[in-house]
Amino acid sequence: MVHHGSCHCGKVSFDVDGEVDGALACNCSICARRGSLLWFVPRERLQLHGAPENLASYTFNKHVIKHRFCSACGIHAFGEGTAPKGNKMAAINLRCLEDFDLDAVPVQHFDGRVM
Ligand SMILES: [Zn+2]
Repeated sequence: MVHHGSCHCGKVSFDVDGEVDGALACNCSICARRGSLLWFVPRERLQLHGAPENLASYTFNKHVIKHRFCSACGIHAFGEGTAPKGNKMAAINLRCLEDFDLDAVPVQHFDGRVM
């Protein structure tokens, strides 16, 4: 199933293919502040729309994860990184999906603060 998502102003929009089986709520320093609920997919399942210059990046700590957000409205829509096996992954912020029932998926709490 293809889900459509976007930032608040719509300059960043995307389609992502897959079955959302759960959401990850992480308590690390950045997730705790932005309140995102994440869903991890292989990067090739994420298709971006709109002009690339609207997409800003933030990295911290080991700088291996690119936290992507809209340069106009500031909403974090997804992140990009590489899994331990070397495959490219995307972490979709489920709160940015349109017509998606967040209450219908289980939320797993991840203790990222210790990492
Ligand atoms: Zn925006």
